[in-house]
Amino acid sequence: MNAPARALHDTPRSDWTRAEIAALFALPFPELMFRAGTVHRAHFDPSQVQVSTLLSIKTGGCPEDCGYCSQSSKYETGIKASKLMDVQAVLADARAAKEAGASRFCMGAAWRSPKDKDLDAVCEMVEGVKALGMETCVTLGMLTAPQAVRLKQSGLDYYNHNLDTSPEYYRHIISTRTFDDRLETLEHVRGAGINVCCGGIVGMGESQEDRVGLIHALATLPVHPESVPINALMQVEGTPQGLSQPLDGIEFVRMVAVARITMPKSMVRLSAGRTDMSEETQALCFLAGANSIFCGPKLLTTPNPLADSDRQLFEKLGLSPMPLP
Ligand code: SF4
Repeated sequence: MNAPARALHDTPRSDWTRAEIAALFALPFPELMFRAGTVHRAHFDPSQVQVSTLLSIKTGGCPEDCGYCSQSSKYETGIKASKLMDVQAVLADARAAKEAGASRFCMGAAWRSPKDKDLDAVCEMVEGVKALGMETCVTLGMLTAPQAVRLKQSGLDYYNHNLDTSPEYYRHIISTRTFDDRLETLEHVRGAGINVCCGGIVGMGESQEDRVGLIHALATLPVHPESVPINALMQVEGTPQGLSQPLDGIEFVRMVAVARITMPKSMVRLSAGRTDMSEETQALCFLAGANSIFCGPKLLTTPNPLADSDRQLFEKLGLSPMPLP
């Protein structure tokens, strides 16, 4: 049995080779979509898409130099640094997101890593959002093992920490922490028993080989991330990536499809970049196995489609929001 055919079978594999992943990318588009759709149906209801909301709980002033990020203090992007939000204000936003149909609430803070005292407030936020019956995810930068345990004790469901790109291309994007630093944080998260949310960004001038490398890095983790956000770069003026050539829509859909096939049981999240995508491209992403979107006018600091346009898109496509967990 060849590699793609084997992928149709149930057990997630962590022994993918780059050649196998490259062969998936090279499939004729209809064949790739058929395979991804088949894998998707084996594990999920293809008519349901989880609606998530992402709130920036601490914006700007980050000492890291991620070349795509509006919140890095290294670049002039017009984003003003703010303090950590008040817990009650965050919970009010979570309630509003739930009323708007979101079942998952993600909170992001622009830190290199959280200070222990900051974690007290974040843990309170997680407890409050959990009490609303929503799934929780936070992204706070690098974590130590004891910090991960504290977050787990607060009831956190997912921790987001992206690998961003292939190990080889990584140094072109970030210099202030290494690919291995990121893997270490993922190990701490996994070790604490928190679900891992880990994906990357495409359209940063990387080659297809780098996209293969990113999928390979994710799909060969000892356990697949339960959640895999696939982001299309949102070009931010003032950042080194601000002038990148946008990735072709079909190539983006291929990325989603290959993520679905190689990580069959993971939630594949169609994340940043939807404002620049046509409805047709988004529909192809759902066919390729994406089963989550972020709703709300902003994704941290960058624009995102309005709830009304998402409702209309769901109606057109006959999709429904995944119910609360
Ligand atoms: S992506 Fe995160 S870690 Fe990197 S500069 Fe932006 S806020 Fe900081």
